Amino acid sequence: MTDCIFCKIIAGEIPGDIIYQDDDVLAFRDLNPQAPTHALVIPKKHISTINDIQSDDAELVGKMFLAAQKIAKDDGIAEPGYRTVMNCNSGAGQTVFHIHLHVLGGRAMSWPPG
Ligand code: AMP
Repeated sequence: MTDCIFCKIIAGEIPGDIIYQDDDVLAFRDLNPQAPTHALVIPKKHISTINDIQSDDAELVGKMFLAAQKIAKDDGIAEPGYRTVMNCNSGAGQTVFHIHLHVLGGRAMSWPPG
């Protein structure tokens, strides 16, 4: 998608603090971190929202969680605990319409989220 900022990070057209990538997914540090660890895991394939995920994407979405798990281990937050969040549409706070899994940790988390 030409006007998608996350597609531009994948293409190397805008910079990203990339911490993991493979053939299918990319992960980078959030520009406006909400916790000591705040990474975003995205599929290299453009998918706008959770509502647009197809059954063929099931393995891809699973790979996003495996990347999140690796980031948590690498950042030392796997055992203390961390949160993964994927917002769907503006009512839930989605601002970038290329699905992304937030990986947040390194501080105490409260529940419910706002
Ligand atoms: P959401 O509100 O769930 O759509 O999350 C979008 C996230 O993308 C926010 O946490 C932003 O801080 C983050 N973000 C937006 N642009 C960039 C960028 N160029 N590099 C890294 N993170 C970004």
